[in-house]
Amino acid sequence: MVIKTILISISLLISSIGWTQKQDIDIFKTKNGTIQIQPILHSSLVLTYNNKTIYVDPYGGAKMYKGINAPDIILITDTHGDHLDFKTLDSIDTSKAIFILPEEVAKKLPKKYGSEMVKLQNGQGVHRLGFFISAIPMYNLPEETNAFHQKGKGNGYLLTVDDKRIYISGDTEDIPEMRALQNIDIAFVCMNLPYTMTVDQAASAVLDFQPKIVYPFHFRGKDGFSDVEAFKKLVNSKNKTIEVRLKKWYPSN
Ligand code: ZN
Repeated sequence: MVIKTILISISLLISSIGWTQKQDIDIFKTKNGTIQIQPILHSSLVLTYNNKTIYVDPYGGAKMYKGINAPDIILITDTHGDHLDFKTLDSIDTSKAIFILPEEVAKKLPKKYGSEMVKLQNGQGVHRLGFFISAIPMYNLPEETNAFHQKGKGNGYLLTVDDKRIYISGDTEDIPEMRALQNIDIAFVCMNLPYTMTVDQAASAVLDFQPKIVYPFHFRGKDGFSDVEAFKKLVNSKNKTIEVRLKKWYPSN
């Protein structure tokens, strides 16, 4: 009996330290409250403010969101499977979620999902549940019809949460629209090849728009992970005031 109890305890311990165990939640004080941000996987993250929960690009299955409140808002950046992941959407409770997405994604998403669909073109914005969310272009350079990401098809997002401005890059190269951003408190910036940009490009762009805090994310490429440590060094060698936060965005990074 004692042995059985010990075995059960050990198996519970092992299952609780697996990848599905949630990693640290980062907390940011705003003028009137607290933002919580939790990296999930690849380019998915969960943001909570004032008892409202936003999922960005839900991906990786229900286990990644276990124990997290059902989403009030879901932001989707792109039609690709690592951003519009039906397997994950089907496995979480999206019934009350307001989907904010580009037209290209809306065309692929059946009406059964969510309570409302808000289509945003690049440059448009919308107020929902106390947040202001605007769509920022995301695309590859040079602009070619066979590029992985063409201008106007996907959305990066800029979220205004109380007095904080949070930028989510989507899949992009170091486009002028990103370099022109101002007063960004928190930025999530992609860097993977061949789909988005190099670590050097990302660092150069970040040094240009100078977010207070930057998280490298979406850094799994065709041939493995981009060197996010090198990104941090590149940024901080030229500007020590930008805080680069390295997080575990993959089971094995
Ligand atoms: Zn992607």
